[in-house]
Amino acid sequence: MYKGYFAIFILLIFSACMKQGGSSTSYQVEPTLSAYVDNFFAEAAKRGHVFERKNLIVNYNSGTDGALCGSCNSTSVDQGIQKVVSIYNINPCWFNDQQLETLIFHELGHCILGRAHTTDTLPNGNPKSIMTPNDISLYAPCLYPIGNQLCDMSYKRNYYVDELFNSNTPPPDWSH
Ligand SMILES: [Zn+2]
Repeated sequence: MYKGYFAIFILLIFSACMKQGGSSTSYQVEPTLSAYVDNFFAEAAKRGHVFERKNLIVNYNSGTDGALCGSCNSTSVDQGIQKVVSIYNINPCWFNDQQLETLIFHELGHCILGRAHTTDTLPNGNPKSIMTPNDISLYAPCLYPIGNQLCDMSYKRNYYVDELFNSNTPPPDWSH
């Protein structure tokens, strides 16, 4: 009895995989997110990493798990596996393009680069990496400009993108 159910379960998984693995349908990026995914591949290419655009689905997920901003189904670097990035948009986590880019770069860091989370910090205490678990404002512009407070962090973007593709990138000048 149990074995029978198990066999059906395996068959269902297999057929689901087959559906997703078809080469003509496995690269699908939600149109309003494609600019950010394009940025990822462009930044990768600038740094000598050329990835085939295949087996990647990036879509919105209207799930109600308020704790999630985004997710990736696999941290394998194997591009033969169907990767799925979900961006949760019911209560969006982001307020500007830079935050949404950081969120998508973080998820593609898992899904394409196979990177795990890190809580390491730079000498000034800032997160070392886009792969930090809970910060999508690393290089965001001012969200709420008040007086002369230095709040535009966009000058940090180049370091964080370098680090995403090479975790041995040395700490930048602004972090000392
Ligand atoms: Zn993550």
